[in-house]
Amino acid sequence: MKNILVTGGAGFIGSHLCERLLKEGHHVICLDNFFTGSRKNIEHLTDNKEFELIRHDIVEPILLEVEQIYNLACPASPVHYQYNAIKTIKTSVLGVTNMLGLAKRAKARILQASTSEVYGDPILHPQREDYWGNVNPIGIRSCYDEGKRVAETLMMDYHRQHNVDIKIVRIFNTYGPRMAENDGRVVSNFIVQALKGEDITIYGDGTQTRSFCYVDDLVNGMMTLMNKENFTGPVNIGNDGEYTIKELAEMIIELTNSNSQIVYKPLPSDDPCKRRPDLSLARKELDYEPKVHVREGLLKTIEYFSSVI
Ligand code: NAD
Ligand code: UDP
Repeated sequence: MKNILVTGGAGFIGSHLCERLLKEGHHVICLDNFFTGSRKNIEHLTDNKEFELIRHDIVEPILLEVEQIYNLACPASPVHYQYNAIKTIKTSVLGVTNMLGLAKRAKARILQASTSEVYGDPILHPQREDYWGNVNPIGIRSCYDEGKRVAETLMMDYHRQHNVDIKIVRIFNTYGPRMAENDGRVVSNFIVQALKGEDITIYGDGTQTRSFCYVDDLVNGMMTLMNKENFTGPVNIGNDGEYTIKELAEMIIELTNSNSQIVYKPLPSDDPCKRRPDLSLARKELDYEPKVHVREGLLKTIEYFSSVI
């Protein structure tokens, strides 16, 4: 049994991670500022005596005694991370520095939730970890993309300079129950629109691609990485099936049996044209294999949204 800190623990991925860690018998400290997370995501855990909740912002330092830190605190949806862009970059730079300082003092192992966005609008396809990316440093996505790139740099420098025990996971588009209804990401938008019979809003012509990972597969990959010795990453975790946004819209209309119509809206600037993880490194080092097919995962997510909207 370990003492484990999960920052961003009241968010979509963080709440699933807290749940799994508690199931495995650990003591979990969930830390969140509730910017995009909610108490509802974790209310089923609050009766567990091994679960602690702290309202805190990682941009401010905090003193805790923990053995492992999963640093997930950061808004993940473009709508939310662009709402206060300066705060987003502070979360990835000052926040990650604070968490690394904590890891250094407490001699804790720290895992940073990085992102496929470090590859920007990629020229190499699918994306391998040794690809350095194609990122606009001054665009509307930069607060998130460049913030996460600096966070990786800080992780590596604390590792080289202070021997902090680090892990970096590059997460590709992940979906599942407990995404926020107003999250603005494509899977939650399309499902909510389909269930309400509203128009399905495709940005651009819908030929851009993404690869969608069910949250349980991601949590498995993250926990395997955290507990793997002599391997820091960065390592891609996701699902390597690749779909156009139009295919996703059609699949969701079919699975929800919806009468919704597809409408086309302008493509936001710097929206990547294609994205698919090369999972060779995860397969080799972590024996990772995504198990949930996108149709199966979408059905579970549709069931969740049907019960909450
Ligand atoms: P989310 O928005 O649901 O969760 C983020 C959580 O962090 C929220 O609970 C929010 O309140 C909290 N938070 C934000 N800023 C904070 C701060 N300064 N201090 C304390 N708490 C703060 O998003 P998610 O999808 O669960 O993403 C979790 C992590 O995974 C993020 O770091 C994100 O960048 C990364 N990630 C997610 C995806 C994805 O597809 N879901 C893809 C790549 C990377
Ligand atoms: N998207 C869309 N309609 C929506 C929301 C998103 O067509 O209602 C598109 C978006 O432009 C992008 C893709 O879906 O091309 C994935 O968007 P998301 O915000 O989920 O993730 P990210 O762009 O960060 O991968």
